Amino acid sequence: MASKNLSLLASQGWLSLPQWREVLEEQDHKQAQELAYQTLRTHVGTGIFYRGIVECTNHCIQGCRYCGISANNTELSRYRLDLDTILAVCQEGYQAGIRTFVLQGGEDPAITDAWLTNLIKELRTRFPNNAITLSFGERSRASYQALFDAGASRYLLRHETASPLLYEHLHRPRQRFWHRISCLYALKDIGFQTGCGMMIGVPGQTLDDIAQDMAFIQDFKPHMLGIGPFIPNTHTDLKDAPAGDFTLTLFVMSLCRILFPRILMPATTALRTLLPNGLSQGVLHGCNVVMPSLTPKKEKAKYLLYDKKIQPQESISQTMADFASELASIGHTLTVARGDAPENAPDDTTRQP
Ligand code: SF4
Repeated sequence: MASKNLSLLASQGWLSLPQWREVLEEQDHKQAQELAYQTLRTHVGTGIFYRGIVECTNHCIQGCRYCGISANNTELSRYRLDLDTILAVCQEGYQAGIRTFVLQGGEDPAITDAWLTNLIKELRTRFPNNAITLSFGERSRASYQALFDAGASRYLLRHETASPLLYEHLHRPRQRFWHRISCLYALKDIGFQTGCGMMIGVPGQTLDDIAQDMAFIQDFKPHMLGIGPFIPNTHTDLKDAPAGDFTLTLFVMSLCRILFPRILMPATTALRTLLPNGLSQGVLHGCNVVMPSLTPKKEKAKYLLYDKKIQPQESISQTMADFASELASIGHTLTVARGDAPENAPDDTTRQP
């Protein structure tokens, strides 16, 4: 029997802030997991989408205190992939069945609109069936519009935390909470399928903060959600903080699946880094996406947002085979498809009685 608040969440599709707080306090892991998995099977099925991530640059002008590639890390060797390299790894990914490319990087002034729109157009010409997702942080509305017009259809920008105070604690003074939130609304307004998300267990975070995250997500109605445990990086000033609790991370993922039955939610690399069977555990808690890396091995080792980040297999085909085998053990399969957000994903009101 699910707790009163979990039943309410499943039936009405929203909770008040105090109710979110209570759910997080009660932490009824078993019931949340069962409800989330039942929701996944009913509304999504057994197919798991996969996206190929290309980490285009590890340069970044920002100073997020938790991030291993922030400008504060003076010991990191920096790189930018050139156009030909990106196209070559995308070709390899396409042959392995990847139908969404996720182009990602720090806030790097060299990643200009002209450079990115050229890359997007090139990818659209060569891989017309593929979706292009971008994740290059905060940019101007005009920039987002140009990237959308060039053919990108999705954008990932974690909100990081919905608590302005915690946001301030984790970022440099010039990084403004409200600017980040306004970027998310601009992306959605332009027409991007938009993803937000946060880390669980980042130093200073309380259950009240996570309750605020849930209330924000509920209100914002993203198409995609990226949630992972905090993992410290040796070259940040949070290096001595403990990693986030993966059980709490899985619990929050379950809540998100119950909140948005058809949302696109990856079993994140951070989760898979902390948990050897993180992909299957993520799916059993409501995840329906996995995002293998297409970044060349040499550069991949330099895209260390946190310590011990999983490094890719020798080939994308081998990575896919490993994913398929782990998923088969729980009755799921990889789906070769773009995996766009269902039209009604954010506003899905089909609820259990
Ligand atoms: S989290 Fe993103 S914006 Fe912040 S330092 Fe890292 S790459 Fe830059």
